[in-house]
Amino acid sequence: MRRFIFVVFIFLSLSTYSQKAIFVIADGIPADVLESTSTPNINRIIAKGDYVRAHVGGDKDMYSQTPTISAVSYNSLLTGTWVNKHNVWGNDIKAPNYHYPTIFRLFKNQFPQKKIAVYSSWLDNRKKLMGDSLAQTNYLHVDYRADGFELDTLSFPHDKESNYMHLIDERVIAAADSGIRNQAPDLSWVYLEYTDDMGHRYGDSPKMTDAVEKLDKQLGKLYDAIQYRETMYKEKWLLIITTDHGRDEKNGKNHGGQSPRQRSTWIVSNRKLNTYAHLDYPAIVDIMPTLGNFLGIKLPSQFAKEIDGIPLIGKVSVAQLAINVFQQKLDLRWQSLDTSGAVKIWLCTKNEFKTGAQDQYILLKEVPNQNNKATIDISQYPSDFYKIALEGKYNTVNKWFVQNAK
Ligand SMILES: [Zn+2]
Repeated sequence: MRRFIFVVFIFLSLSTYSQKAIFVIADGIPADVLESTSTPNINRIIAKGDYVRAHVGGDKDMYSQTPTISAVSYNSLLTGTWVNKHNVWGNDIKAPNYHYPTIFRLFKNQFPQKKIAVYSSWLDNRKKLMGDSLAQTNYLHVDYRADGFELDTLSFPHDKESNYMHLIDERVIAAADSGIRNQAPDLSWVYLEYTDDMGHRYGDSPKMTDAVEKLDKQLGKLYDAIQYRETMYKEKWLLIITTDHGRDEKNGKNHGGQSPRQRSTWIVSNRKLNTYAHLDYPAIVDIMPTLGNFLGIKLPSQFAKEIDGIPLIGKVSVAQLAINVFQQKLDLRWQSLDTSGAVKIWLCTKNEFKTGAQDQYILLKEVPNQNNKATIDISQYPSDFYKIALEGKYNTVNKWFVQNAK
């Protein structure tokens, strides 16, 4: 009996690793720039983990097309949705639709005792996007913060060469380094800006390369801090590093448009990514459900039908949903990544979710996932707007049909 208790004790103590996650946005680095720069620290993260090219910008020329602008992309990462849903169209962050919750809110709703953190030059990331202390986010409380350094011109006087921005990023990294080692927040966001400043100023240039090399050193510090926690404490960390947009083809100075290089991004992870990540072309919206999977977040079923991303770790059922509506028929095809199960096809003719109300979905059909396609009579549901959700065992994908969309 004593031996049995001892074995159970060992088992329990092995299974009580706490899982923590941290994501980094390094501003404005197209995949080709990262790949052509010497980045020994990023390389040692990839050696244990993974690297994939990815994209921002939503579906080009479709209802979800999204400007390749910083704050727009940050909110796509935070909410797992494109701009047609989250409604942040520019860096002024005029009217975010807080009915699309961020990863921080989902996490805090489910685990109120767990801690969240932000380390960022930019104050709006916390105040407006995360919605710290706002009524619209039910007064989300950010437990640890180090931000707003751009406003502190006494400590960081603005010089012509924008070197102050590098100094701010150094300050942000120092705060994140010490935060990880000492407080170890359960979910953290680190935001670094210097690379984008150099991009706007010098474009594709030795200055840009130098900025990415500086970034690499900073990321090495973060990775060391995470490894320290994993070695010294019973913790497993997920580190995701990405960028918010690429840069133009001409000289790399600008962004905002829909050209391939402006849409071009990448994702680094300290853990192996799944088949979907390697088979398809991941997007910034995939990061939210990835963090959610790792942290054990159960997505509310109405919101699961809104998320535009697919988890990059763990099992995935469905991806690449394409829909068409003609002659009162709904025509679908998809990629099935788990051939064993069935998928439910849901239809909704309204978009109440965006106002905070519940959508009424109709279950049209359940079919084997491996079918990859379905054509369904929808003459009972005439509308010029449809939301279609395809619910698999492990994930749900969705698409809109908008009559006369551009
Ligand atoms: Zn940016």
